[in-house]
Amino acid sequence: MKLYIFAFFGLFLTLNLNAQAPETKEDSLKIREIYSAALVNGKAYNWLDHLSNKIGGRLSGSLNAQKAVEYTKTQLEELGLDKVWLQPVMVPKWTRGAREHAYIQTGPGMTTEVSITALGGSVATATGGLKANVIEVQGIEDLENYKDEIKGKIVFYNRPMNPELIQTFEAYGGCVDQRYSGAEAAAKYGAAGVIVRSLSHKIDENPHTGSMSYGDLPNNKRIPAAAISTKDAEYLSGILKLKKDLEFYFKLSSENHGEVQSYNVIGEITGSEFPEEIMVVGGHLDSWDLGDGSHDDGAGVVQSMEVLRLFKETVYKPKRTIRVVLFMNEENGLRGGNKYADVAHSKNENHIFALESDAGGFTPRGFSFEADDAQFAQIESWKPLFEPYLIHYFEKGGSGADIGPLKKGDIVLAGLRPDSQRYFDHHHAATDTFEHVNKRELELGAATMTSLIYLVDKYGIKRINLEKDQKL
Ligand SMILES: [Zn+2]
Repeated sequence: MKLYIFAFFGLFLTLNLNAQAPETKEDSLKIREIYSAALVNGKAYNWLDHLSNKIGGRLSGSLNAQKAVEYTKTQLEELGLDKVWLQPVMVPKWTRGAREHAYIQTGPGMTTEVSITALGGSVATATGGLKANVIEVQGIEDLENYKDEIKGKIVFYNRPMNPELIQTFEAYGGCVDQRYSGAEAAAKYGAAGVIVRSLSHKIDENPHTGSMSYGDLPNNKRIPAAAISTKDAEYLSGILKLKKDLEFYFKLSSENHGEVQSYNVIGEITGSEFPEEIMVVGGHLDSWDLGDGSHDDGAGVVQSMEVLRLFKETVYKPKRTIRVVLFMNEENGLRGGNKYADVAHSKNENHIFALESDAGGFTPRGFSFEADDAQFAQIESWKPLFEPYLIHYFEKGGSGADIGPLKKGDIVLAGLRPDSQRYFDHHHAATDTFEHVNKRELELGAATMTSLIYLVDKYGIKRINLEKDQKL
């Protein structure tokens, strides 16, 4: 009887093991090891502590940005990678200057202060500030409805982020044109300045900055542009309904200083079998200056560094070359991403895969991929390996701004997709700080990225164009 039971269990065990292909078993064990190493002995959080609390906000061209270059280079060197280097890149330098000041005036001596911040790249107001009547619009296309009234006034863009959209990046995408191109568009109607509702779902007093462009407007046509906090945007909108001829005052001291030298920071473990096949993992080193850039994108930087460290710690020798790239100037120019791609293309380097983490350090949900159908089917077949870690989101979609310029040929681009519900509470605001990043969430993101790169390294990426070539 005992023997019979033993034999039964033996059979059961054999069947169970046979249900999983041996390589899948090996992969699930390796991925378990990666997650354990990240959660027990991770380094990402300590690195982020330094970037955020010892260095702080890292605006392109600033002293802090340079400190971040030096710090991350030293840390990568300490990992014992095969190569670590700096890639020179020229970046725009813009400074905020003295703290902005703004108020609403409803009558002589009747003023209410409101909270604003200059948009990155904005020109200053005249030294004494700018005071004018306000025209509220619901987006750039709405300007047309007020075209004769705009001249000499401040245009107030107040289209809110759509709260119904579950993917908050979609809601952001639906409004960001007001911030990026609102000044250029309003200037063409003769506006004196623009105020843009902050891109956040949360109603609070923190204005959110971000990049803006004047397009091809000549210098003398450029008008000052600032973001107003969501709370003050609601207040201004409400009071405009009662008093259409109120005046708005704001003063900006920002300045554009041309271009300065900066760097992308790059580290590499050279592949043992296919060194010419390159996989990139990265985030951007620069940030806005209001907070310390912990979520955007300190998190992505340290998670990307952690991918290479986790390979070292779990004694995994990649077959293909893995590069961590810490891009400079994502926020107001994308010079680092463009530079990296230019150099890669000019050297004819064979990049097969690139992964960016630039959506905050929150609980990872999965990835979105820019891939051909066959490539995506291959990647999707790995999804069950991630399910024990509650990673379930594998979709086609965008990847990351810095890796976008690498798109060419067969390369697959991917973006880590963390939970996005709280991201825009902090994005580009004074509240993007270290205490809002959870250590475990950050580490889970790093482990999720490492696991995906491990699978890409082991199995490669389907060569679509190559197969087509062979068919011809
Ligand atoms: Zn970012």
